[in-house]
Amino acid sequence: MRNLLNLNDPTLLRTDAYIDGRWTATDARFAVIDPATGEDLADVADCDAATTNLAISAAHAAQRGWAARLPLERSTLLRALGDAMFDNEADLARIIGLENGKPFAEAVGEVRYAAGFLTWFAEEARRTNGSIIPSPFADTAVLAVREAIGVAAIITPWNFPAAMMTRKIGPAFAVGCTIIAKPAEQTPLTALAIAELSDRVGFPAGVFNVVTGSAESAPVIGEALTSSRTVRKLSFTGSTVIGKLLATQCAATVKRVTLELGGNAPLIVFDDADLDAAVAGTIAAKFRNAGQTCVAANRILVHHSIADDYTERLCAAVDQLKIGAFDSDAQIGPLIDDVSVTRVQHLVADAVSHGATLVRGGDVTEAGSQFFAPTILTGAIPTMSCHTDEIFGPVLALTEFSTTSEAIAIANNTDAGLAAYIFTRDHARAWNVSRQLEYGIVGVNTGAISAPEVPFGGVKQSGIGREGSHFGTYDWTELKYIAMAGLHPEQDPTQ
Ligand code: ADP
Repeated sequence: MRNLLNLNDPTLLRTDAYIDGRWTATDARFAVIDPATGEDLADVADCDAATTNLAISAAHAAQRGWAARLPLERSTLLRALGDAMFDNEADLARIIGLENGKPFAEAVGEVRYAAGFLTWFAEEARRTNGSIIPSPFADTAVLAVREAIGVAAIITPWNFPAAMMTRKIGPAFAVGCTIIAKPAEQTPLTALAIAELSDRVGFPAGVFNVVTGSAESAPVIGEALTSSRTVRKLSFTGSTVIGKLLATQCAATVKRVTLELGGNAPLIVFDDADLDAAVAGTIAAKFRNAGQTCVAANRILVHHSIADDYTERLCAAVDQLKIGAFDSDAQIGPLIDDVSVTRVQHLVADAVSHGATLVRGGDVTEAGSQFFAPTILTGAIPTMSCHTDEIFGPVLALTEFSTTSEAIAIANNTDAGLAAYIFTRDHARAWNVSRQLEYGIVGVNTGAISAPEVPFGGVKQSGIGREGSHFGTYDWTELKYIAMAGLHPEQDPTQ
């Protein structure tokens, strides 16, 4: 608890579940660990199925009243919550940095990004417009209205503890859904701090419920949420394997599912690229959150004619990156746990054993047992694990190509389809390659593609649905068609 006592506002540190507007203690607790030091940060409520069901009941009781509020009222509360996050950004960044490990500057960036979803969807709350359809029936009006899906469950990962939560609760609250959220076991404190702020700004009891749990409890909570007939939707961000499992569980009650799963992003550098921009874009797309993002560049495809020049500049840029704990000026923090370290070590070893060359990094550093060095491998090929698997660590695997069609074929040779990046000065090539890439997101000459205003989501096994943007409320509403017959003037007794 030592570090967290340095919060400007220590009451943002909440460790119980938040159900029906009340902080709810449980006998069972689990530890949240600082990945930089291995120290216990807090003991948090370890919820079970019964506690989860209490949260479902609270969300159910609150839902109709919440949906019946004027859109402007929901909008005002969402904006207040976003503003409260901005007002408390240093403390929220500290909580994120301590439980997730990302450097302070990145953690502040995440708070702003996360609060931005709330202020964006505060505006969208007033724009869930439907349609009036020219009627095919006599004396009948035909309308399509968008209504809140109802009670919804949210399960979030540890890599963006604030932003993955607000990207979901923003549109959910905007349209009138109520929520039971289960944050990742590694990073529950951020979600609880957001719940504390929602309480302060006046969200009604039962609208936002947060059920925390250990890794062992996650399947129990997940089962309670997915088997419930009251819960009408699940929005999940996390691994592909758990996403498939939860989608299967949701099938029994035909729930709406939004899934944001793993990626395997290609980053293609063509021979006409601005190499400085390509290197800057590669660093941005790879090293945010120490490479632990689903849109992280996973496979770097470089035209053979510029490969040496690009690699030399990339090495120079990587040499500038500082590794360190969240309260330093570092750009690279620790990996989330020792399992991740072992996994990334295996990916590097697999590549080297199959012929790749290690030109930078390759293992953990003296900063600590979970601080993996920024790593560059050249000569990677599509059969290596660093091509077939999501690296989720600060490792760049470079592969040379000769033709555009070869690069596209390698890029599309995966079941994932979240983000892709291309670097070229040729507009026709940028357009045509973008259209041929089987991805939900394409960054052209940029490695930074995330914002509240843009539609985020994948194709193939990277997921279902889109989050953010003016499309972002669609995944939280049902379309209801109303046929209003009997509208002939003669049927109006006052005519
Ligand atoms: P990662 O490998 O990035 O930790 P996971 O998919 O395992 O990704 O975790 C993402 C979220 O899913 C976390 O909140 C985690 O607790 C939760 N989770 C993991 N397994 C289950 C499960 N069987 N049922 C419900 N939630 C789960």
